[in-house]
Amino acid sequence: MVPVVELNDIAHVYVTDREASLAVEGIHLKVEPGEFVSLVGPSGCGKTTILSVIAGLLQPSKGAAYVNGDPIYGPSPEVGYMLQQDYLFPWRTIMDNALIGLELTERLNPESRSAVQNLLREMGLGDSGNLYPSQLSGGMRQRVALVRTLATDPGLLLLDEPFSALDYQTKLQLEDLIVETLKERGKTAILVTHDLSEAIAMSDRVILLNRNPGRIHRLFDIPENIRRAQPFFCPQGAGL
Ligand code: ADP
Ligand code: MG
Repeated sequence: MVPVVELNDIAHVYVTDREASLAVEGIHLKVEPGEFVSLVGPSGCGKTTILSVIAGLLQPSKGAAYVNGDPIYGPSPEVGYMLQQDYLFPWRTIMDNALIGLELTERLNPESRSAVQNLLREMGLGDSGNLYPSQLSGGMRQRVALVRTLATDPGLLLLDEPFSALDYQTKLQLEDLIVETLKERGKTAILVTHDLSEAIAMSDRVILLNRNPGRIHRLFDIPENIRRAQPFFCPQGAGL
């Protein structure tokens, strides 16, 4: 099977007018279809740099990067990116925020709109479509961001510390919901986090990074029974 992501000896140097710094080096990674992989490491070890390469937002200084077997030339509709901040537009309703990716890719039609409505319902946001972001809690806003990312149906999801601004209990509930939602849909996912327990709770595989420069330190496969043990049971619609 063709890996969804393949990174071959990636290195990246950031060049500014004053200096050049080696952010990551010697990064090899293969992610198989349907896998949930976490990149874990301290701040500054290059996690976001690696995701940016996979998202097609950053051309690495060295190495080859592929998504679904094709060299990465730029952002692709096959890849969805969810960030720590939700970046919802405050002047748009929740529904209109969730539809934005479909609008931009000219795929908004009655069918795709109703699929988004269903996704909002599944995330316990069925009654929130006409509200504005300021009327929602942090956990609800991140769920809207997840719906917005899933709306365009990317096969690969990149999640960059999506829980770090949330309180502990909300974080556990959202971890649970995201793993279930992505597994159900057969999505492939790469989660970036500095929280090892979060990575273990959510992933099939954990990759530990070192910093200065960012390198892969160790790889762990997470045993099935730990993976299947959900961190927290979250009844749908629980008020996150
Ligand atoms: P992480 O996401 O693990 O915190 P990053 O990928 O953001 O790490 O950063 C890795 C290293 O590259 C850090 O030393 C950071 O300061 C540096 N870096 C990141 N982005 C830039 C940039 N745009 N210009 C210069 N240096 C950068
Ligand atoms: Mg980062």
